[in-house]
Amino acid sequence: MSAKFVLIGSGLAGGLLAAYLGRRGYEVDLYERRADPREGSMLEGRSINLALSTRGIHALQQIGIADEVLQHAIPMRGRMIHEKSGSLHFAPYDVDPNKHINSIGRAALNTTVIEAAQRYPNVRVHFNHKCTGIDLNSVTAQLLNPPSSDYGVAGTSSSQPLNSSTTQPITVSGDAVIGVDGAFSAVRQSMQLEIDKFQYDESYLAHGYKELTIPPGPNGSWQMEKNALHIWPRKSFMMIALPNPDGSFTCTLFWEFEGSRSFASTKTDDDVRRFFDEEFPDAVSLMPNLLEDFENNPTGSLVTIRCAPWVYEDKVALVGDAAHAVVPFYGQGMNAAFEDCVVLDECLAQFPQDRHRAFAEYFERRKINADALADLALENFIEMRDKTASKTFRAKKKLDHFLEATLPGTYLPLYTMVTFTRIPYAEAKRRARIQDAIVYAAVAGLTLAIVATAIAVLRALAS
Ligand SMILES: Cc1cc2nc3c(=O)[nH]c(=O)nc-3n(C[C@H](O)[C@H](O)[C@H](O)COP(=O)(O)OP(=O)(O)OC[C@H]3O[C@@H](n4cnc5c(N)ncnc54)[C@H](O)[C@@H]3O)c2cc1C
Repeated sequence: MSAKFVLIGSGLAGGLLAAYLGRRGYEVDLYERRADPREGSMLEGRSINLALSTRGIHALQQIGIADEVLQHAIPMRGRMIHEKSGSLHFAPYDVDPNKHINSIGRAALNTTVIEAAQRYPNVRVHFNHKCTGIDLNSVTAQLLNPPSSDYGVAGTSSSQPLNSSTTQPITVSGDAVIGVDGAFSAVRQSMQLEIDKFQYDESYLAHGYKELTIPPGPNGSWQMEKNALHIWPRKSFMMIALPNPDGSFTCTLFWEFEGSRSFASTKTDDDVRRFFDEEFPDAVSLMPNLLEDFENNPTGSLVTIRCAPWVYEDKVALVGDAAHAVVPFYGQGMNAAFEDCVVLDECLAQFPQDRHRAFAEYFERRKINADALADLALENFIEMRDKTASKTFRAKKKLDHFLEATLPGTYLPLYTMVTFTRIPYAEAKRRARIQDAIVYAAVAGLTLAIVATAIAVLRALAS
């Protein structure tokens, strides 16, 4: 008989993982605390759109849904930098103009992965079921199914409720529980309680984020360059904007929570208006709902979570943000979560009779890379909010692209390795450090040679 997996959380990675496990013939029960997104429930508090790139696309391709997802995507070919003066600079992401990242809607993508999972009759999805904890040794999960949401079991032909809704906890069991329940994972919390010396570290940025909107122009047109990720770098903070298919842009302001100029100190409409007029003058004229958006939209926090182990015997595993939440500045959190699904699937295929070994191998392969991504994502915040505005940075990018074109396959800029290849994150980080050291040494050597030549020429002229 096939093993039964209990998955907690049908966010981006939960739906995709259910599809992978369903394809492999396992029995899968997926429990999600929210209502079915197809019934119009909002994915509140999370980014409306995301950048999907090579790793995520590969994971979707393996399950046959990449084309379906990409048909709604908007290619972003580079960064459009907005200076305070209103000047614009476009910096392509790669020397190859065909390489781009893709702006996609979170809600549509979430629905697509859930529907991909539900194509397998051995996958059942249960919405409105909140996990309150798991018992690691008995492989059971405790769930609450609130009475107000007496929903049936989506993905089965039956429309009967899973349980005639009760506030009493429901207990479900399986051969393994997978926590795909995001950064504040209930499964991980149970592991913390039950596993001796479980390592856990969470660190919050001093910055929060708020989403704002640039609505479509006339006839659904885009009021700024459509095929770019827009950045307003302002040293200690920044705003970015990603295009949506309806002609709108979703802007995200990343700003300090506290301080003399911060979310906390910006209290009145006049404060908001003054700040935007000073910092983002070209955007503010395109944001008629700025004041309402600023007041009504939540201010989210940005957390990096590192923990170990992600697995317990053959019984429990963590996938996606539950294992490794990262700040969003490399646009890789979801892409990495999707890559986890590919690797876990590969490990289960490699050790079909030994799930303990498969889980251990998964953790071994992914942990080092998730840690590397966490570092890269934090570093990229400084690059985006500060360095993208500098001429030196733009010159370095041009040099990167020149070297990439001159030494194809040998020199790959870090952004290219992370975004447009599946080179493991830790390996990409290591290669980039070596490349940078060589380039800086070469530039320093060249500078020395030029200075030495200039001195020799001056001496010759003087004698
Ligand atoms: C502002 C912002 C911008 C981002 N931009 C990008 C980007 O451009 N590109 C990118 O790759 N990544 C991006 N990310 C990261 C990305 O959102 C996450 O990495 C991704 O959502 C992780 O997927 P997940 O399935 O692990 O977790 P989630 O998407 O958080 O899904 C977890 C699911 O579990 C459910 N759940 C939680 N607790 C329980 C419980 N107790 N019981 C049952 N269900 C539960 C939740 O309701 C949810 O459906 C961004 C993140 C933020 C905050």
